[in-house]
Amino acid sequence: MKKAYLTIDIEEWYHLDYLKTYEVNKNEVETIPQIFDFLDMLDKLNIKATFFTLAELAHKHADIIRDIRDRGHEIGCHGLDHELLYNKTDADFKEQVIEGKKILDTVLGADVVKGYRASCFSMDRKKLDILKECGYSYDSSYICFAEHPLYGSLDLSGYEKVEDLTYKNGDFLEFEIPTYKIGKYNIPISGGGYLRLFPFPVISSLIKKYFKEQNNFILYLHPFELTDISLPYPSDLPFKHKFRASVGRKGNLKKLKKVLLMLRKEGAEFRTLEQELNSITNSEG
Ligand SMILES: [Zn+2]
Repeated sequence: MKKAYLTIDIEEWYHLDYLKTYEVNKNEVETIPQIFDFLDMLDKLNIKATFFTLAELAHKHADIIRDIRDRGHEIGCHGLDHELLYNKTDADFKEQVIEGKKILDTVLGADVVKGYRASCFSMDRKKLDILKECGYSYDSSYICFAEHPLYGSLDLSGYEKVEDLTYKNGDFLEFEIPTYKIGKYNIPISGGGYLRLFPFPVISSLIKKYFKEQNNFILYLHPFELTDISLPYPSDLPFKHKFRASVGRKGNLKKLKKVLLMLRKEGAEFRTLEQELNSITNSEG
């Protein structure tokens, strides 16, 4: 059986790594309150997704996060803040992942947060081992994309591959973000800017090729990619960054719907990562 996991990293438009050094007006426009068209679309398609949420935004958007949960989706943690893990000490990381889970569980009124995704996939092995000790059951920060300077490769020794994109160490799972290898390049076909950049026929043909060899697929998106509300990018932002941030935002929701329907047509069943976690850990008793 083929499975598709739709994941959304709940953060703001100004959390993009290349916007961090610029002065931005954070309160002028927010994208998180604009995701209701997307949530309604998922309801109509009967798709449940995983929302990795930045814990420092959780109290401000508590009603939205509870609404997402009430619609049957999973809430995971996207860290306390959006600093890259490479810039955090292990001790700070530990404190923050515990605090992040506590904040999200408090907003949701129960011990529900099982999964974690590192900002910009900046996970390393030491921090992965720490995460495992801090009450989390899985991580989804592993991407094989060495061409991108931000994404290193995560050491998964001691993990066994249980199925495509899924690695297991004891009761703890790591979910890989898929890439598609063309020649010596790994093309990240799984979301973010690449989903916006490639026209639908291109992304659709890449995913179909990918599905001939692989059973599982993960998509990842952010709130600013799910609304075309205009964003106040700083006027001195270089063109290449402005292009990267804004390309394909208009009409992206429609394109995403076509991608989701195409995945289903290709035989994929949509699941949350927690559903997959439960199915793997229960099947082994
Ligand atoms: Zn992020």
